[in-house]
Amino acid sequence: MTKSYTNKGFIQQLDGTYAALIHPVNGYLESDQLESIQRLAQRYGTVKLTVAQAIMIFGIMPEEFEQVANELQKVGLPLADIGPVVRNVKVCTSRYCKHVIKDVTPLGTEINHRLAGLTTPKKFKIAINGCPNSCVEAQLNDLGIVAVPNGYWIYLGGKGGRQPELGTRMDMVIREEHLVETVEWIVKGYLQVAQGERLGEVINRMGLLSFLKTALTWKSKGLKTCIGARYCKNGIGDVHAIARMVSSSGDLQGKVTISGCGNACARDAEWDYNILALKDRYWVYKKGSLDIVDIDQLSDYLRRNEILK
Ligand code: SF4
Ligand code: SF4
Repeated sequence: MTKSYTNKGFIQQLDGTYAALIHPVNGYLESDQLESIQRLAQRYGTVKLTVAQAIMIFGIMPEEFEQVANELQKVGLPLADIGPVVRNVKVCTSRYCKHVIKDVTPLGTEINHRLAGLTTPKKFKIAINGCPNSCVEAQLNDLGIVAVPNGYWIYLGGKGGRQPELGTRMDMVIREEHLVETVEWIVKGYLQVAQGERLGEVINRMGLLSFLKTALTWKSKGLKTCIGARYCKNGIGDVHAIARMVSSSGDLQGKVTISGCGNACARDAEWDYNILALKDRYWVYKKGSLDIVDIDQLSDYLRRNEILK
């Protein structure tokens, strides 16, 4: 196979020829794209629709890959990502559906643009649904998204195949503004800890909470958090927003943890400062003493204590 088509678009078949696998973005086809598929079908033979919202055209030889790819590119039809990569995102027909809670088509475009084709230990499938009817089967994908009032449910670790498993739903409604970042962090977290496994197998081995702590806590030089209010029902403080604010306010000169409530899950007695975000203030523990800091004064406080410069 031509090197540039590794994990891209052409799959060998029983008779030694290849099928082109085309994945129209969000599953929608324009008339010129259909005409292009018709021309290719007339030239090569049979066309088939797949369960992954892709189109297969059979009977292609390796020396024809380039020509087929160019023809598809002219009408904006992408070859599908195949093999151990983040696969092209599947999206329901929320743009037109009368049951829709949220049209997830733009979200599908964005997540597909950011992640499809990224190399992963095993294939990683994403499906996005505009309501809990889940027509593209959020529960049977590595990462499934379902629009609900006020945000999105995320299912993790589902798969079909020989040993199918239903994904587990995270116990939070994820807000719109955090969704794409959350999906990226989950994929990055999977890349960090997978040992040649699908995400469901990682979660079976580690436990869901441990995986979420790996994927969704903030970790940067000298700063770590719990999963915070975005992902924890007990959470009061948006630890990710606090961590981003601290990081952008200067260079940390020591080690700081931030927890999203009094349970102090990120606390580490060995670290210099342990901050707990409470309703209207921070409790800041520094080596045996406690300071109470107003909600808008944290950066100034850290600067005064020369932990932030
Ligand atoms: S998941 Fe909901 S919004 Fe999407 S096509 Fe199915 S019923 Fe319609
Ligand atoms: S400290 Fe609070 S918000 Fe953070 S993970 Fe623990 S219980 Fe959740």
